[in-house]
Amino acid sequence: MSMTPYVGRFAPSPTGPLHPGSVLAALGSWLLARHAGGQWLVRVEDVDPPRTVPGAVAGQLATLAAFGLHSDGPVLLQSQRDAAYQAALAQLLDAGLAFACHCSRRDLADQGGIHHHCVPRPPRAQPAIRLRVAPGTVVSFNDGLRGPIRQDVHADVGDVVLRRADGYWAYQLAVVVDDGAQGITDIVRGADLLDSTPRQILLQQALGLPTPRYLHLPLLLDADGRKLSKSTAAAPVDAVNPLPALRQAWAALGQDPGALATVDEAGDALRAARAAFDPRRLSPVNIPLRPAAP
Ligand code: GLU
Repeated sequence: MSMTPYVGRFAPSPTGPLHPGSVLAALGSWLLARHAGGQWLVRVEDVDPPRTVPGAVAGQLATLAAFGLHSDGPVLLQSQRDAAYQAALAQLLDAGLAFACHCSRRDLADQGGIHHHCVPRPPRAQPAIRLRVAPGTVVSFNDGLRGPIRQDVHADVGDVVLRRADGYWAYQLAVVVDDGAQGITDIVRGADLLDSTPRQILLQQALGLPTPRYLHLPLLLDADGRKLSKSTAAAPVDAVNPLPALRQAWAALGQDPGALATVDEAGDALRAARAAFDPRRLSPVNIPLRPAAP
């Protein structure tokens, strides 16, 4: 067991029930945390009320419990974290790193939605707040599964929204503040967020927070080759019978299917998975979802 502190996390947004892709991220992050002798925390990313589905927070937490995936500390709810996000925003504004932006989505349409300069327009009642990303801002990091990743954040992303014009906190700010507050050392999540990582690193640097290690797991693809997601109504996993989804996620992590072949309940499956897990078998290649065997 490594002596390096390791704090991992699973941070679902309550936009629907957990689906096989969420279980892959939950199990993958849990196994890597356990393999490192580390902690694993659950955080509810309910920072976007228009996309939050009523009952989804309780449903997701009940599903994780049924799967035997328990947070090693209190579950943090982003809806309770206003003061922390406000303080981070004030810090960035005071340092001149963030600015109020009155541009609308339509104003930025010609630039592909990427903000580099505010357009002349009448002020809005409530502007968005953005992180200024200067020309030439290139961020590199080493992904645990994919190796070196590099993004020109100025060219590809532009100035990053921190608080939206509708007054809600942007995911990018909330995730960085909370990963910092929870002392997360290792972020293991789906490859759909790979593109967000450079701007999150930039934000960590702007806030004086440490940058965790990152590992982006492969995505599960539906029959049309698209990423499964809660919001496109991927079939939810069965909380009453977790074994098929656990076996499916285990196989998608490239692990030996034989290790879970004979278990008959979730707790035993996790124990067996923890004992047999070999991180060298992880692959970055996305995986077409096969129906879960019963
Ligand atoms: N809440 C995000 C989601 O459900 C994940 C955030 C993260 O892992 O950084 O897609």
